[in-house]
Amino acid sequence: MRCRFCETPLDEVFLDLGSAPPSNAFLAAADLNAPEMHFPLRLFTCQACHLVQVDEVQKHDALFSNDYVYFSSYSRTWLAHAQRYVARATERLALDRDSLVVEVASNDGYLLQYVQDLDIPCVGIEPTSNTAAVARARGIETLSRFFGRSFAQEFVAHRRTADLVVANNVLAHVPDINDFVSGLSLLLAPEGTATVEFPHLLQLVSQSQFDTVYHEHFSYLSFHTTQQIFAAHGLRIWDVEELPTHGGSLRLWACRSDSTRRETEAVAAMLAREAAAGMFDMDFYRGFQALADAIKDDFLSFLIDCKRKGKQVVGYGAAAKGNTLLNYAGVRADLLRYVVDASPHKQGRYLPGSRIPVVAEAAIRESRPDYVVILPWNLRDEITRQLAYVSEWGCRFATAIPSMGIG
Ligand SMILES: [Zn+2]
Repeated sequence: MRCRFCETPLDEVFLDLGSAPPSNAFLAAADLNAPEMHFPLRLFTCQACHLVQVDEVQKHDALFSNDYVYFSSYSRTWLAHAQRYVARATERLALDRDSLVVEVASNDGYLLQYVQDLDIPCVGIEPTSNTAAVARARGIETLSRFFGRSFAQEFVAHRRTADLVVANNVLAHVPDINDFVSGLSLLLAPEGTATVEFPHLLQLVSQSQFDTVYHEHFSYLSFHTTQQIFAAHGLRIWDVEELPTHGGSLRLWACRSDSTRRETEAVAAMLAREAAAGMFDMDFYRGFQALADAIKDDFLSFLIDCKRKGKQVVGYGAAAKGNTLLNYAGVRADLLRYVVDASPHKQGRYLPGSRIPVVAEAAIRESRPDYVVILPWNLRDEITRQLAYVSEWGCRFATAIPSMGIG
């Protein structure tokens, strides 16, 4: 097995979470009598470029179920993030009615709706048909294609290059990172900018966010590794910002290597910060397993203790993060009775692996649990505000990461 960027043989295990089903493989009631496909969930660190990546074995069609159930527009926090981004990017790059914005993985149009509001031409690229259909219903041109080199060549030949390519929260999820970044480079106008956002590997390690690991999350990126990958495909990073999303993300602003754009001071500062944290050295990547195990053990102890005391524990947020934690810890419905999720596409189904039922929020008022475990800890504030009423019967909130906390 070789590094998906630089092809150096991989032999350093970063984290081994055993095996689990794909995080989006929610089950219908009828599926509960059938077996489930599990795949190893193991990450390696490349000793040459420090790209942390999932095992090659994950290249399996079963990981990409058509039954994709994530609609970005169901999270208010996420919509606000997208709206702020559009305001900032369009102003910073002075985009207008003659510009073109292309978003890769445009989902249900959660972001491009704000570009459209400004009368700036835009095109979304979204291979998942049910989310793309929602975007089209909003009047956003959406192409149901996979993005990469061949798409970009074809698009530029028939249409034009883009002044802004938005690829937020997709880079870490593409199996062929070279093909994807090469596509970004080809799609950009000579003075155009591409922005990418991804969870920062520095935060993953320092905040023990091992539950952000799942099969469809192929790459775990640092700034210095991403800079190498971009440079290999003719792109230069001219600015970097830190964002609170997904527990600490980076937003990179990249242009073609031959662009006249000048780099901000943030670029050198981020490299210095990663160097100071030890990210240029393999020792940084070792020892993460012990951190993950300690969190898993504490979480299980909490659940078992609650069960023995007759306390009812439920979960909130049927996202990938929760599935990684629950499956690694071997939690089942006897320890976590149900998980609430706002998405009607998940309600009435069961979490992959753990087979815990997913229900609507009304269940909380009915069953009056003692604890609500917030699985997407990055949305903790939003969720605790929304569920503030549970204090009426003395229910408390719990999170497992970065360490077991009860509030
Ligand atoms: Zn590598």
